[in-house]
Amino acid sequence: MMLIACPHCGPRAHVEFTYERTMDAILSVDVDPDTAVAILFQRENPRGPSQELWRHTYGCRSWLRLTRNTVTHDLAEVVAWPPA
Ligand SMILES: [Zn+2]
Repeated sequence: MMLIACPHCGPRAHVEFTYERTMDAILSVDVDPDTAVAILFQRENPRGPSQELWRHTYGCRSWLRLTRNTVTHDLAEVVAWPPA
């Protein structure tokens, strides 16, 4: 079981959290549709470290930025997002 150390709640089981997307797939409100499609559906999907946006859905409901290895699921960093 993967534990995620929420900066507000402490270590919790990953089933309390919801994966949203990789940090490079966050769009600004003024992006044109073709660019949005490219960012969301034609992006790289490399193995290894990945910066991801997660939410502690069944806890404090805060957004978090995780640095997760997509092969091993090791977490290098868990921080509140957006940064204060
Ligand atoms: Zn939390």
